Amino acid sequence: MGEVLSLTLMPGATLFPIRVSLGAVGSLLWLLWRRVGLLSKTTTVFLLLCSPICAQGQSITVTLLGTGSPVPNLERFGPSILVQAGSQVLLVDCGRGAVQRLFQLGMLKEVHSLFLTHLHADHVVGIPDLWQTGWLIGRRDVSLQIWGPKGTADMISHLEKAYQFDIGIRLQYANTPPPRGVVTDTEEITQGVVYQQQGVKITAFDVDHGQIKPAFGYRIDYGDRSVVLSGDTRYSENLIRFSKGVDLLVHEVVAAAEFEVLPGYPPARIREIQSHHTTPEQAGEVFSRVRPRLAVYSHIVPTTAAASGLIASTRKTYAGPLEVGEDLMTIEVGEQIVVRRH
Ligand SMILES: [Zn+2]
Ligand SMILES: [Zn+2]
Repeated sequence: MGEVLSLTLMPGATLFPIRVSLGAVGSLLWLLWRRVGLLSKTTTVFLLLCSPICAQGQSITVTLLGTGSPVPNLERFGPSILVQAGSQVLLVDCGRGAVQRLFQLGMLKEVHSLFLTHLHADHVVGIPDLWQTGWLIGRRDVSLQIWGPKGTADMISHLEKAYQFDIGIRLQYANTPPPRGVVTDTEEITQGVVYQQQGVKITAFDVDHGQIKPAFGYRIDYGDRSVVLSGDTRYSENLIRFSKGVDLLVHEVVAAAEFEVLPGYPPARIREIQSHHTTPEQAGEVFSRVRPRLAVYSHIVPTTAAASGLIASTRKTYAGPLEVGEDLMTIEVGEQIVVRRH
């Protein structure tokens, strides 16, 4: 049983909907509310007492599972971000090592929903692992739902062919989880609202990742809280448009100068990489226009780029709150924004 209430929790606070699961006491108070038609003092006290819990329920927790990019790095795994909002657990991209990080957090069994920003290998290379290992020791009897750009269904159907030998063998064992756990349910999406469950809304929007089209960023709204994940993009006006009023903006970044010290990167190659991504100076301009409560870098190119250099370059164009993401950094977006490092 549940009802959507609109309440003012404290003077000056904004009105916002709260989905309340009503227990016995709550049900009685709800009946009083409905019958009497006004909010009694007792009810007010109850609601004020529960307000920290309700407010907590309105937070979004973002965990950066992997903050790296294609080149392997033991500190920065491949791009993948876990988003928890209310009862919803959502994974955005599934790069190298995403399953290890989920397992490390004890969250592997919770993940049934995967959103892809685009089909570059560094963002999808962990999907077979999530799909297969998740079936065996994670979600077990729950299918894996995948939202992604055009081409996603094709990719997943090819994966199903690639793994059919192993799936066939395992299904003969008595202790293998039910076959429905290895089923995938893929939806190809375009810009717009792509998911609405239990008060959590996810909007995909087009970003500009050069010739890689479509490429999406995602905006997650839950109650008063909102988070934008840029995906891979160069400076994007559309991202700025969709990030309006957002609490947390997680943005990719490329530090072209850092490539110059790495072997195997001639200037033309560096220019090509840079042309698909956002420099710290450009990201700073994005942050200055969006004015999020917190800006965080993830998908750091190259993976070896130093945080100090990224911050110094960003400060040329942005003076607001900024963090350079680390693997397993958790950002809790509530009344306050709390950043925890692993
Ligand atoms: Zn990438
Ligand atoms: Zn990419």
